[in-house]
Amino acid sequence: MRPAFSKKVKLCIIFENFLQQFAYLKTVMNMELQNKSIDYWHAIAIGGASISSYEESLLSQMKKEPPSRISVIFERECNLHCNHCLYQNEHSSQEFSQHAGLEMILNNIMQQLSRNSEHQYGPSLLHAGRTILPWHIEVLNRIKERTDDVKIGLIDNGSYVKYIDFFKTKCLILDWLDISCDGPEYIHNLQRDPKRRTAYSQMLNGFKHAAEIVQSKVLGGSLNALFTVTTLNYDFVEQTYKMLSNETDISTLHVTPMTPYHPRNFSISPTSKHIFHAFEQVLSINKQNRFNIKPLVFFKLYGIEQFQKFVDTMDVRAVKDMINTMRVSQEVAIFNVNGCNVYFYPTSLWPQNEFLIDADGAQRVAYSQKYTLNQLQDKAATGVYTVQQLSPASDYQEAHEAGVKHWWRVFGRKTIEYEKDVFQRRLFS
Ligand code: SF4
Repeated sequence: MRPAFSKKVKLCIIFENFLQQFAYLKTVMNMELQNKSIDYWHAIAIGGASISSYEESLLSQMKKEPPSRISVIFERECNLHCNHCLYQNEHSSQEFSQHAGLEMILNNIMQQLSRNSEHQYGPSLLHAGRTILPWHIEVLNRIKERTDDVKIGLIDNGSYVKYIDFFKTKCLILDWLDISCDGPEYIHNLQRDPKRRTAYSQMLNGFKHAAEIVQSKVLGGSLNALFTVTTLNYDFVEQTYKMLSNETDISTLHVTPMTPYHPRNFSISPTSKHIFHAFEQVLSINKQNRFNIKPLVFFKLYGIEQFQKFVDTMDVRAVKDMINTMRVSQEVAIFNVNGCNVYFYPTSLWPQNEFLIDADGAQRVAYSQKYTLNQLQDKAATGVYTVQQLSPASDYQEAHEAGVKHWWRVFGRKTIEYEKDVFQRRLFS
């Protein structure tokens, strides 16, 4: 049954909504666009402006903002089979990389990355998966030698330790290392390695040896932990933080609710309650860590579905208050909830976030990892996830522009419509 409002209450609600609409429209009209794509996104998704009125400016601005960070999937095979993994099971992709000349493609792109100080990271390369192998260490080392201002990072599950002597032989020092940690021993193993249950010790070993291959904190290096929230571990954020603070030397912990990509993940996909409960623990950690003495903890939402779930447990007023605190920075919208920042990455602006190079040297888009390399190469089935094959002579700016155009046509425009719809309904319901 619909709530039975009296006529007077209904009128009050309509009037309040009208005032809010008016205030937002006024903000948008007066908003001095900083000329960043996130500002146009703000005008559309939050301000409620029509997409077509800003579409041209938004696209032209996106093209002017090629990311200074390259994400490279060096290898598609992994030693673990995590429940929540974006990737499918597949074989090593090394021969595809050699065939495509991945190293030469990377060299060429790294030379062209912007050295503009406006960029958040500076020129950098993220080894984004799935596990590092000796030949990757050689490639990364040669890239460092050729372009010494490039920063190199690695996302790993701790398996890099197998090759730690090779890192040392090659004198490769990483600028940052992210290791996934999804809970105390039983939970981490349940989520990441349910059969062999060795993932936890591998992960801790990864943290233990990090200082041997990561730049020291005083020289700008950082060691970070990544926590993916699922139905299995949502109750263990605080406990995990305490364990990591005591047993490792992390600088930050990043807590991110899982977005389900495969039917096999649906059963562990966190609901609104799980997500908000994880956030409450982040709040509690932040309250206890007011002077930022201990590792910092961040709560991040990727995609509007996760945002929607997050606000679903909040009442209308709290959501409006939260949206009213929003500020934008680079490609992220930052909300304040009870004194704690919530970082939201709009998927519609994905090309500003990363430039993705796959193991076969192809430029691909977000979520392409959920297909195997064979499937992606079979363009008839998965063509929309591939922008183009890169070559050692590709022009980075042109490739980024092609990526923006492709993303917008296939996913971006639809996504911003959805994002706008969610924000507008939340603001003016
Ligand atoms: S360690 Fe990472 S890449 Fe490997 S299976 Fe787990 S989530 Fe996937």
